[in-house]
Amino acid sequence: MACELIEHNIIVDKYGNVWHTEGDENYVNPSDKIDLDEAIDIHNHIEPHSFSKDDLYYMQNKLNTMFYLVDKNNTYRVKFLKKLDMPYNDLYHYGLQEADKINDFSKVEDFYMEYLKDKGYVLYEKYNRNTRM
Ligand SMILES: [Zn+2]
Repeated sequence: MACELIEHNIIVDKYGNVWHTEGDENYVNPSDKIDLDEAIDIHNHIEPHSFSKDDLYYMQNKLNTMFYLVDKNNTYRVKFLKKLDMPYNDLYHYGLQEADKINDFSKVEDFYMEYLKDKGYVLYEKYNRNTRM
């Protein structure tokens, strides 16, 4: 199976309409005219990484949307319940500190997302297809 070379976004809105947007190897930006209330919003990542700062801010602005972010190893399911009221740098710093304790810097986003989940900001699940969790 060939790997995708660009990011795609698929939205299914609450009326059942389907919207497909093509991006490039780093970004995909669906139209902000699409009604995301109660929608499902899916996009892929070319390189395995959980999500960017842009992804985080995009998602926290859409409180009633279920997001799926998919790379070749993991599927992340994210729904924001309330907006962030802390700077991204503080969040990232927290993740960095926790990742440092176990000496695994691939886990920075995992740690700050678990923190946001504990604090009631998000519904969040990470499905790792390699470990079949
Ligand atoms: Zn993304």
